[in-house]
Amino acid sequence: MKIALLGPPGSGKGTIAKRLSKSFKLFNLSTGEILRDQIKKDTLLSKELKKYMDRGELVPNHFVEEVVRLELHNKKRYVLDGFPRKIDEAKATKDFKLDLVIYLHVPDEDLIKRLADRRHCQKGLHNYHLIYFPSKKPGICDIDKSKLIRRKDDNPKVIKERLKVYHHETEPVIKYFQRKKILRTIDGAPHPKEVYKAVKRVVKEYLR
Ligand code: AMP
Repeated sequence: MKIALLGPPGSGKGTIAKRLSKSFKLFNLSTGEILRDQIKKDTLLSKELKKYMDRGELVPNHFVEEVVRLELHNKKRYVLDGFPRKIDEAKATKDFKLDLVIYLHVPDEDLIKRLADRRHCQKGLHNYHLIYFPSKKPGICDIDKSKLIRRKDDNPKVIKERLKVYHHETEPVIKYFQRKKILRTIDGAPHPKEVYKAVKRVVKEYLR
């Protein structure tokens, strides 16, 4: 079972990927998380990657494709969160033979609100949302008790750029998988619990 999740920033790909990974025992690959781990290091590569990410732009293909290939080597059950995100990356998935691509559709107005209310712990391991998944104690991670912070690229100016990039570069990917007849569109606007129910139904249908 090889699934990719497509959708704009803030559409809930990360949350859905984590849940799918747990329910269906799939390896969860988030290119955003891999890149954020990479930029914590003080290397020339990390400085280069950070420039793109802080501006809300996509990093060049060769950085991502190579990592994805290495991570997926010999794996047969996985869910991809944040890859592919542009047409060249989509073409590279020919080699992985994806079974199902789930597109989470959410209008821009909802995304702007959602992204501004996202928080994560200082280690970047645990995610929260001020409305959907608030921590028990405001501003403090339930698990490691560190302070909750906002992702650098979740500020209004960068959010605007990320949405622009999404419409320009990622939307053609939706059409690409539509033509391949493996795309299923899900309304990502309701509460994440409802969205997950709909996603699970689609995955189960596929497994039947
Ligand atoms: P995400 O956590 O998925 O929102 O990704 C955060 C940032 O990482 C994006 O805004 C891009 O700069 C970069 N990124 C993540 N996945 C990709 C990808 N597949 N191709 C290019 N850049 C990516």
